[in-house]
Amino acid sequence: MGGISGKRIYLSPPHLGGEEIEYVKEAFDTNWVAPLGPHVEAFERECALHSDRSSALALSSGTAAAALCALLAGIKSGDIVFCSSMTFVASLAPFVQSGAIPILIDSEPESWNMSPPALEEAFKDAEKSGHMPKAVVMVNLYGQPCDMGRILPLCERYGTPAIEDAAESVGSNYRGHPSGSFGKFSFYSFNGNKIITTSGGGMLLSDDAEAIERARFLSAQARDPAPWYQHSELGYNFRMSNVLAGIGRAQLKLLPRRVETRRAIFMKYYEAFSDTPGIFFMPEPEWSRTNRWLTVITVDPEKTGVSNFDIMKALGAANVESRPVWKPMHLQPAFAGAKYYGHEGRDVSEELFAKGLCLPSGSNMTDDDISFVIGAIRDILP
Ligand SMILES: *Cc1c(COP(=O)(O)O)cnc(C)c1O
Repeated sequence: MGGISGKRIYLSPPHLGGEEIEYVKEAFDTNWVAPLGPHVEAFERECALHSDRSSALALSSGTAAAALCALLAGIKSGDIVFCSSMTFVASLAPFVQSGAIPILIDSEPESWNMSPPALEEAFKDAEKSGHMPKAVVMVNLYGQPCDMGRILPLCERYGTPAIEDAAESVGSNYRGHPSGSFGKFSFYSFNGNKIITTSGGGMLLSDDAEAIERARFLSAQARDPAPWYQHSELGYNFRMSNVLAGIGRAQLKLLPRRVETRRAIFMKYYEAFSDTPGIFFMPEPEWSRTNRWLTVITVDPEKTGVSNFDIMKALGAANVESRPVWKPMHLQPAFAGAKYYGHEGRDVSEELFAKGLCLPSGSNMTDDDISFVIGAIRDILP
């Protein structure tokens, strides 16, 4: 049993609108099921338009896009990369796989994203040591844009390109500018759990058309313009298939509605628990509008009487999926020993990790589903 009708309530399942099948059918009818094709080109144009970018490259995943960012940024063995610590591993892993040494930056309490003072401290130390970073990976956590107005000027001052990991923030904006429009490069994910999906996929974005053409070449096996298969360098097989791009085109049209639905789900949780002592909601600073990809709370067991994990366990018993927030990268065994900068004498990401919980936020949740989850949480509160 679980949910009101006995079905499991997932954290963030795919939500199809119905029109996807028309695009897929078109791909089948025209025999464009192989990689590339007209849907891919159209989806790239539509994503470039959506993100206010001149150029876009459709890929098999957000992780593939991050890997191409590492190549375009020229990351080589021993180069330093600054990255938000509070994120999913794929923000950072491709850079480290390219040989980068990660330096991890704590969150600030205002947005839970990269702390500008911690970033500044890291830059100052890098300057002193004469070992400047090759890139700064800034992440828009759970849909919430980071503080671009403070982070980008720092990157500019120190001459380091910024990369915007907008995997979770498709449809969000910072001061009216869409997520994905910031930094030298940015990328989206269309993984199955994201706000819109192609089942699996990603999009690399930039205003540097030449760099995107370079990425296009690398993402399709780096084939020389010769009559035979000739390779002067080695590439990848990272492109998105035409079938999946068709799904993406239909999903992108639904994005504004999906954002409103996720924000409405957040409001329902907020109305239910904002008065509960010890429960706090992920903030939305006035300079941004988040897509509320996931509704995230923190739980202070001393005030609430139960912990985040108690709630997660109770929800699990009611057949409702919830998840801890991302474990910070500076606490990951894979990055043991990596340098890390806390936020003004605090470790905000560790505080969030200790208390955070992601609640079911799928745009296809019914009102009954949401009420069921709220009821299940109320049941375990003392
Ligand atoms: C999902 C995600 C990615 C990776 O995207 P995939 O399409 O799953 O490869 C990267 N960064 C963040 C922050 C993500 O949430």
